[in-house]
Amino acid sequence: MTKRVFSFHYTLTDTNGQVLDSSREGAPLSFLEGMGQIIPGLEEVLLGLVVGDKKNVTIPSDKAYGARVDELVVPLPRQYFPDTVAVGQVYEIDAEEGAVPAIVLDINEKVVTVDANHALAGQDLTFDVEMTEIRTATEEELAHGHVHGPGGHHH
Ligand code: ZN
Repeated sequence: MTKRVFSFHYTLTDTNGQVLDSSREGAPLSFLEGMGQIIPGLEEVLLGLVVGDKKNVTIPSDKAYGARVDELVVPLPRQYFPDTVAVGQVYEIDAEEGAVPAIVLDINEKVVTVDANHALAGQDLTFDVEMTEIRTATEEELAHGHVHGPGGHHH
């Protein structure tokens, strides 16, 4: 079974045109196809490009980080947190899928309310992308399930 490694530059903006993230200052982002390493809506688009292609695409939230889920806003006992807990801090909390980051929304004497939604949940995201390299994944990368550095050398 062969799989490909795609490398691309991107600039991510929200629906107001504000830049949220970009690879332009550093190396392109690489991913192994079919592994869910990037958001599904973007992977769909990138798999159809060839090297040199540029594209501006808006990914709806359901193919990006999903909808915001009210159940992920949870009250937790105050004693689970250090005295220095403050609104806006991020803590790892235990969820079904393992530890997830959650931001503190509110604090009172007994309860700390945290939000474990992804910061970009519920948002449509616009990506300006440029495909820079497509190559066949090495056996080692397939075995590991991730991309190794430029040219496939081991880390
Ligand atoms: Zn590895």
